[in-house]
Amino acid sequence: MSIHETFTYQDLEAIRVGRVGGAMTASFILYRLGGTLIDCAPSNQWKYVRPFVKQKQVEQVLITHHHEDHSGNAANIKRMTGITPLAPATTCDILKRGFKIPPWQKMMWGKSGKLSCDPLPDQLQLANGEAVTPIFTPGHAKDMHCYLLPERGWLFSADLYLASYLKMLRSDENAQVLVDSINQVLQQDFEVIVCLHRGVVEGGKQRLTDKRDYILEFAGKVQALHREGMSDRQITHRLLGKESPVSVLTGYNFSKINLVSSCKRISL
Ligand SMILES: [Zn+2]
Repeated sequence: MSIHETFTYQDLEAIRVGRVGGAMTASFILYRLGGTLIDCAPSNQWKYVRPFVKQKQVEQVLITHHHEDHSGNAANIKRMTGITPLAPATTCDILKRGFKIPPWQKMMWGKSGKLSCDPLPDQLQLANGEAVTPIFTPGHAKDMHCYLLPERGWLFSADLYLASYLKMLRSDENAQVLVDSINQVLQQDFEVIVCLHRGVVEGGKQRLTDKRDYILEFAGKVQALHREGMSDRQITHRLLGKESPVSVLTGYNFSKINLVSSCKRISL
C-alpha cells in the first residue's frame, strides 16, 4: 500500500512517501524548512513529491548523501525549480558520474539519474540565513553528511540514526566507521533528530547514544562467541536468529550476518 501523508513540527513541513506492508516496507520523508528542501525523496514517488515541492517557492536544496532514496528526485526538482542542489563534494562527484543501484534498491526506490550539484560553501546557511554545520559521517555511505542547526539544537541525521537498535547491515556499511561517526556527532549540542526515514525524534541525542551503546554491546557478544570458535553464521543464528525475508530478497546484501561480520572487527 502506498502512503503519502504530510505533517509539521514547529515550522518544519514534511511529506512521508513510500509504501507500507509486507517485507518491502520502505518510506522516506522529504522535509522543507522555510525555502530549503532537505534531500529529494526517491524518484518512484515523484507524483506525490511534485505537488509538495510546488506548494512553496524553493530557494535551496540540500543533499545529505548520494543514495537513490535521498537524491532520486534531485534532477526533477532542479528541472522544476531551476535550483541546483548543494551537496558534499564527494556526493557531487558520485552524482555527476552516476552510480550503480542494486536491483532490490531500484525496485524499492527507483532510479537516480546523473546530476550536477554545487559543493557546500565554507559557511553554509539555510535559505532563511540560519547557520548550518555539516558533519562528515561515513559508515553508512562514504559521502554522508549530517546537517546540524546549532541555533535550534536540531540534527538532520541523514541515515545515521534510523533506529536505536541495529539488526542488519548493508554489505557496503562499516560498523566501526559508523560508531566513530556517531561519536563525532555526539560531541555536538543537539536535542532533536530529524531523520529522513524515522521522522522527528525528540531526545534524539539519547537515542543516538543508545544506538552506539547497543552496537558496542552487541560487538562484545559477537567477539566473545568468535573467541569460542564459532563461525559468523553460527554467531548470527545464536544472537539474531534466522535471516529475515528482506535478507533473502536482497541476496544477503542487507543482512544480519553482515552486522555480525562487521561487529567482529570493531575495536572495543
Ligand atoms: Zn542512505
